[in-house]
Amino acid sequence: MPPEHAVAVPSPRAIGGAALRRIALVDADYAHLLHPQHHPSDHADPQIWVSGDGATITNLEGRTFIDGLSGMWNVNLGHGRRELVEAATKQLSTLAFATAYAGSSTIPAIELAEKLSQVIYPNIEAFYFTSGGGDATDTSLRTARYFWRAQGRPEKSKIVARELSYHGSTVAASSATGVAEFSEVFGPRLPGFLHIASPYPYRFEIPADAAPGVTPGVAAANLLEQLILREGPETVAAFVAEPIQGGGGGVIVPQDDYFPRIREICDRYEVLLISDDVITGFGRSGRWFGLEHWGVQPDIVQFAKGITSGYIPLGGIGVSGQIKHVLDNAPSAKRWWHGYTYSGHPVAASVALATIKVIEDEALVARSAEQGDRLRALFSASIGDHANVGDIRGLGLLVGIEFVADRATKEPFPGDARVPARLKAEFVRRGLVTRVLDNVICLAPPLTTEESQVDRIAEIVAESVVAVLG
Ligand code: PMP
Repeated sequence: MPPEHAVAVPSPRAIGGAALRRIALVDADYAHLLHPQHHPSDHADPQIWVSGDGATITNLEGRTFIDGLSGMWNVNLGHGRRELVEAATKQLSTLAFATAYAGSSTIPAIELAEKLSQVIYPNIEAFYFTSGGGDATDTSLRTARYFWRAQGRPEKSKIVARELSYHGSTVAASSATGVAEFSEVFGPRLPGFLHIASPYPYRFEIPADAAPGVTPGVAAANLLEQLILREGPETVAAFVAEPIQGGGGGVIVPQDDYFPRIREICDRYEVLLISDDVITGFGRSGRWFGLEHWGVQPDIVQFAKGITSGYIPLGGIGVSGQIKHVLDNAPSAKRWWHGYTYSGHPVAASVALATIKVIEDEALVARSAEQGDRLRALFSASIGDHANVGDIRGLGLLVGIEFVADRATKEPFPGDARVPARLKAEFVRRGLVTRVLDNVICLAPPLTTEESQVDRIAEIVAESVVAVLG
C-alpha cells in the first residue's frame, strides 16, 4: 500500500493532462469566443469556471474563490441551489416553451406577474418580461414614449439619464448609459438622449448658481429640473435612473433627499420616472427594491439579474396602473407593438418564482441589510483611515470602496498606477474574485454568504490594500 498522502497527489500525467486541456480551451476561446467588453489585454490568462457551491466558485485548476460579485451582480442566492434546479427541470419537462403573445399565456408567467405585484413598489401593477436588463431598458423607454404618443403627445419623446449610469448595451440602452466610452467607439448615441451629472455624494459640488441653502441632494436633483426647462417639458418623456449607480459609477448611493426631489420634479413636469432596479432589485440593497430606501415609487421599474439569481436569463419591466390603463385602452391597430419571443418564458418564470420563495423563506432582504452593514463596518475599522481610501459606501450587500492618490484633494490615481488591477491580483492570490472599476472596487457577494466568508472578504481586501498601497 502506498502511504495515504500519495493517493491524493495527482500524477504528473494528470497534471500535464489538465494543463494541456487548459491550453486547448484558452486557444479555442481566443480563436472563437467574443466576450462582453471584449479585449485580449484582459484575457491573456482567463479564469475558466467549472463549478460553484454557495458563495464560492471553482476554476478549471480546482482553485476555489469567494464569488465577491455574485457572478455579475446576479447570483444572489449563491451557487448550487437545488430549489432553482428543480423548478427549472420540472418546468422543462412539463412545458419548455409556449408563446406569451396576446391570446396565449402560461401558468408560470401568470403566477410570476401576480407574485411580483405583491413584492414590488405598491403602485406597480403589470409586468412584461424580457431576457435581461438591456432589453428591459429598451422596453421601458419605448413604453414611456408610447404612453405619451397614445395620449396625443408624440413630441414628448426625449429621455434623460445620468452620467456614470449603466443601462445596458442595446442601441437605446447604451444611449441612456452615461459612460461616454461605451458609446463613442460605436458612433453617436441616438438623438434625444440627454444626461445630467450624477449626485455622487463623495464628489458632487453644489453649482455656484444654485439657490442659497440648498442641500447637495436637492441641488443634484435640480439639474433635472433645469434640463427639463431648457428642453421644454413638452419634449421630455422620461428620466431613467438606477437607485444606486452600479457598474458605471461604482456603487454610488445618492443623498437621502435626492430621489424624493426627483419624484417631485417628474410629477411637476409630467416626466415618467423609470427606476433601473436591475442590480438593486430583489434584496440586493437591503430592501426589496432600491427606491424603497427613500419612500419613492417609480412609474416604471425595470429588473433582471437577481430575479432568477442568474440561473437562467430573465428581465422585465413593471408599470403603474396609469400606464397599464393607457395600454389597455388603445385601439387595436395602435396597440403596444412590442414583443419578444422569449417574453414570459415558462422555465425562466418558474426559476424566478422559486428564487422569490427562497428570498422570502430565508428572510434574505433583511440578511442583505445586516451583512452589508457588517461588511462596511469591518472595512471602516480596518482600512477606513488608510491614506488612499477615499470613500467606503453602499447599502445592503452592495459595497464600493473608492481609492484616491490624495485624501485631502480626492485626486484619483493616474491610470498607469494600475491600482485596481494590482488590487485585483492580490484578491485573486488570496481567494477572492470581484469587479474593479477605474478607482473603485465593487463587492456584491451572494445574499446567502456565510458570516465567516463575509469576514474573510474583509480580511482579504484589507490585506490586499496594505500589500499594494502600503
Ligand atoms: N441596467 C443595469 C443597472 C445594469 O447593471 C445592467 C447590467 N450590468 C443592465 C441594465 C443591463 O443588463 P444586461 O446585461 O442583462 O443586458
